[in-house]
Amino acid sequence: MQLIDVHCHLESEHFAGKLDSIIENAKGVGVTALITCAIVPDEWELSQKLSKNFKEVFFALGVHPWYIAESYHNELYRLTHIQDDKYCAIGEIGLDAKTHIDMQLQKKFFEDQIAIANEVYKPVIVHCRGAFNELIASLKRVGAPKAGGVIHSYSGNLDITKQLIPFGFYFSFGGAVTFRNSKKKLEVLRYIYPDYLLLETDSPDIPPVEKSGEINVPENIVYVLKAIHELIEKPQEEIAGVTTSNAKKLFNLRI
Ligand SMILES: [Zn+2]
Repeated sequence: MQLIDVHCHLESEHFAGKLDSIIENAKGVGVTALITCAIVPDEWELSQKLSKNFKEVFFALGVHPWYIAESYHNELYRLTHIQDDKYCAIGEIGLDAKTHIDMQLQKKFFEDQIAIANEVYKPVIVHCRGAFNELIASLKRVGAPKAGGVIHSYSGNLDITKQLIPFGFYFSFGGAVTFRNSKKKLEVLRYIYPDYLLLETDSPDIPPVEKSGEINVPENIVYVLKAIHELIEKPQEEIAGVTTSNAKKLFNLRI
């Protein structure tokens, strides 16, 4: 069984000095690729370095809505200058209604980073919390990202999902789905399976219910797989197969 963790943050200080064993453990449960997502320009070099150190690690570069500083805007040009086969997406970018960062500034960063993704022809990795109407308005303004994208740790309802699919989006699910308590999520999962589903951990954040209170790690993707298997009643091997092939296709991973 092959699995791809399409969203984690291996740059995190929680993982410093421990990545050899963390990646080994992930490989032990079948993870063949991981996409680490930078959140601020200060991390970009580290993300690239991690992908050099570990054959399984691919990287995405961007500015996360929680951590926007106006000065970062002067750094965005760097995203178009990096040549690396493992640089697979622009992200983590997005919109979040529950953060203190001004929504106008978030929209500016989001839309400008979509323009960059189009320029370098890479998909986008999007964080969206409580701001799906703003997200769709932004997408209508700038158009569908040319190489598609994923909404990670997806929390939208079925109606929002139907509006996002024509913009070329996939939807990735992580630890939150292990709580198995959302009718809305089940409805969305059934609708998007198998064509638009991806798996993630968002490590070190959002541990599955089985590992509550712990630092999340990529090997915990098996709990996400198990929860989705129980929810949509499809075999784990089948879910692993379709999500792996979706991830390879979206991120153009050569593995
Ligand atoms: Zn994240």
